[in-house]
Amino acid sequence: MTQRQPEFSVFGQKLTGDIGIYGLMEDLGRAMTTHPDMLMLGGGNPAAVPAMQQIFRERMEELLADGSSFDRMLGNYDPPQGNPRFQQSMADMLSRTYGWDVAAENIAIMAGGQSAFFFLFNLLAGPQSDGSHKKILLPLCPEYIGYCDQGLTEDMFVACRPHITWPKGEASREFKYTIDFEAVETALQQHNVAAIAVSRPTNPTGNVITDDEVRRLAALVEQHGIYLILDNAYGVPFPGVVFTDASPFYGPNTILTLSLSKLGLPGTRTGIVVGDAHVMYALGQMNGIAGLANNNIGQQMSLPWIEDGRILQFGEQILRPYYQERSNEALGFLRDAFDSRNLNWAVHASEGAFFHWLWLPELTIPTRKFYERLKQRNVLVVPGEYFFFGMQSDWPHSQQCLRLSFAQPADKVKQALDIIADEALQNSR
Ligand code: PLP
Repeated sequence: MTQRQPEFSVFGQKLTGDIGIYGLMEDLGRAMTTHPDMLMLGGGNPAAVPAMQQIFRERMEELLADGSSFDRMLGNYDPPQGNPRFQQSMADMLSRTYGWDVAAENIAIMAGGQSAFFFLFNLLAGPQSDGSHKKILLPLCPEYIGYCDQGLTEDMFVACRPHITWPKGEASREFKYTIDFEAVETALQQHNVAAIAVSRPTNPTGNVITDDEVRRLAALVEQHGIYLILDNAYGVPFPGVVFTDASPFYGPNTILTLSLSKLGLPGTRTGIVVGDAHVMYALGQMNGIAGLANNNIGQQMSLPWIEDGRILQFGEQILRPYYQERSNEALGFLRDAFDSRNLNWAVHASEGAFFHWLWLPELTIPTRKFYERLKQRNVLVVPGEYFFFGMQSDWPHSQQCLRLSFAQPADKVKQALDIIADEALQNSR
C-alpha cells in the first residue's frame, strides 16, 4: 500500500523542508554504518581520547558504587533549567576562578549546545510583537552549519564576509580570517539585529577570534543594547581545545554557551548556558515545554569535576596536547600530499577544534560536486558551501573550501588526504 505524504504545518515544513545539512549528515551516518572502509573526514565526533575515557569510566564506576547517587541520576526529573546543585557549582566555579558576576540563576542547562541555540535564536530573533523582524548577526562567515536551519522563520541570519590575512606570509600557505568591523557596523545599521553570534573556536575553520576582537564585539553589543552569544563548544573555559592564547570572556551582555560534548561526552547531551537571569529563566521555560527536563547523566557525571575545578584542567593537560598533535600531524600529511602534486592550496591557521579548513582556489567545480567525487573514492568530507549562509552577496571563495576532520586515526587521515590531493589535481585549472 502506498502511503500518502502527510501535510505538515508551516512550522513542520520549515523544519522538514529541503535541509541540505540534514541530508548530508544522513549521508555521513549511513556511510559510516554501511561502508566501514570509508575514510571519514566529515563528522564532528570527538576522538576517543584514552585519558578522558579512563576518567569517564572511573566516574561511572564511582556512581555505580554509590547506589543512591546512581538512583538519583536515573530516577528523577530535574527542574527544566537544570539540576540546582549543578547550576550552583557551575556558578561558583566560574565566579571563583574568573571573578565573573554569575549566580545559579545565570545558568541554564539544555539538551546540548544545539538545543540551546535553537531556543536562544528563536527567543531573541524572528518576528517581534511590534511587527518588526530581528536577525542574528554572524560577524565572521563561514560559521557553524548547525545554526543555518534553526530559525522558525526565514531570513534569520545576516553574515559578514571576513578579511583574509596571511599572518606568516602567503608562502606559508596559512591564512586567517579576521572580522571586518566596518562590515559588522554596516550590518548593524542596515538590519534589526537581536544578537551577534560567533563560535570560538569556529566550526568549520578552527579560527579563534582574538581577545581584542571579542572585546570589540562586546563594546558593539553594549552600544546597541543587544547580546553577544559566544559559542564555546570547543573553547575556553572548557573543553579548552584551543591552541592559541585565548582568554575566557563574559560580560553584562554576553550569553556564553558551553557543552560537555567535546570533552568526549556528546552522548549525554549536556549544554550549559551562562547569561542574563531573565534569558536563562526563559530558556528553562522553553526547555520545559519541549522536553520537560534535561538529561541528568552528564550533570551527575561532571559534578565533582566542577566542584573541584578539575574540568578546567582537562583541556590544558589532556585535550589540547592531544588535538594539537593530531592537527600538526595532519598538516604535515596535507603539505606532503598537495606540494608533491604542485597544487595551489592554503589552509586556515589551526587555532583550535578538530578541523582543518582547506582552500583550493583553482578548483574547477564547486565543493558540493567535489564531495560527490571524493565519496566515489571512499572519502567523506564536508563541502564548504554549507557554512556560508546569511551572506548578502556571492563570494567565489565559498565554493573553494572543504572542512576536514583530523580526529580520526593518523593512517586514515593520511590516506584520505592523499586521495583528496589526487582528486584536486584532476579538478583544478
Ligand atoms: N556549536 C558548535 C560550533 C559545534 O561544532 C557543535 C557541535 O558540533 C555545537 C555547537 C553543538 O554541540 P552539542 O549540541 O553537542 O553541545
